[in-house]
Amino acid sequence: MTRHHNFCAGPAALPTPVLERARDEMLDYQGRGLSVMEMSHRSPEFVAIAEQAEADLRELLAVPDNYRVLFLQGGASLQFSMVPMNLLGRGGSANFLYTGIWGKKARAEAEQLGFGVHTAGTSEPSGHSQVPSQGDISLSADAAYLHYTANETIGGLEFDYVPDVNVPLVCDYSSSILAEPLDVSRFGVIYAGAQKNIGPAGLTLVLVRDDLLGQRCERTPSLFDYRAMAEAGSMVNTPPTYAWYLAGLVFQWLKHDIGGLEAMAVINARKAAKLYAAIDSSGLYSNPIAVNNRSRMNVPFVLADDRLDKPFLAEAEEAGLLNLKGHRSVGGMRASLYNAVPEAAVDALIDFMADFEQRRG
Ligand SMILES: *Cc1c(COP(=O)(O)O)cnc(C)c1O
Repeated sequence: MTRHHNFCAGPAALPTPVLERARDEMLDYQGRGLSVMEMSHRSPEFVAIAEQAEADLRELLAVPDNYRVLFLQGGASLQFSMVPMNLLGRGGSANFLYTGIWGKKARAEAEQLGFGVHTAGTSEPSGHSQVPSQGDISLSADAAYLHYTANETIGGLEFDYVPDVNVPLVCDYSSSILAEPLDVSRFGVIYAGAQKNIGPAGLTLVLVRDDLLGQRCERTPSLFDYRAMAEAGSMVNTPPTYAWYLAGLVFQWLKHDIGGLEAMAVINARKAAKLYAAIDSSGLYSNPIAVNNRSRMNVPFVLADDRLDKPFLAEAEEAGLLNLKGHRSVGGMRASLYNAVPEAAVDALIDFMADFEQRRG
């Protein structure tokens, strides 16, 4: 069996020790004689798994007691609708920082539902190569909250600060949550699809501050209602039990194998720094993002001659470096360096890039 180096943007690499443990427990979970997949979500066994996962996540992120942690379905994209449905029941508009494709989709969904939207800042003038500065943020008078995307997964543009505003801050943290410690108390809502840095697809994590529960619009379906989900322990209906269990194994891995998010942040910073250094020192590869806003998780780069794209990707795959093709909307390459991508994978990529440049550049 060979596990190649996987730079996929999502669903992304999972830690090998997590998959090994899941394999070992697959048919017979800890002597219970059945798989986690086959358990009732109301059974004591699964409830223990669910509670342990939440406790570990709370410990990793130092989540304050006045926040609920929800384990939902529908992906980060459903949060584009759920956030306004849950926060705009008392009126007001949704404000957005628009820094790339995901933020644009979030704004479009709120608009589609008929809510007032306002763009409070954008990186558009820079071609999404630099995030708007704190001083450039301009909320509308009726702003109920400000939504932004901590890390634009496709553009590779990451905020290097947490905006400071006098309305609740809502953040799409899908592609950078758990990459480093986070001051949760700065936020009203944090959400993240699991398939980047948390676990497999099918699970969406939502952290919501208590005082924001119960501001939903009247006709919000109960499955979309943060308060209903919080009161039911995310079990208004059947939750994605196996994905929840796997996320729990990832939290355990972060705690025990990595040593927590500070240790993870050091590794992530080192991985990104060496890849950007390799790109910057080459004559073939380039990345256009302002240095302070370069994503540590998703590193897009282009080749000086795009006729080399195909051979680059083919040879990379042959060398066991998978999923380096950029998003279909932007082309070029993208290496995603999520938590589960080991430093050795980044070293192998850098070696391959140097070798390719020498032969073909
Ligand atoms: C992947 C991603 C999404 C979409 O996630 P789904 O779970 O597919 O809906 C949204 N926002 C960001 C920042 C992402 O990286």
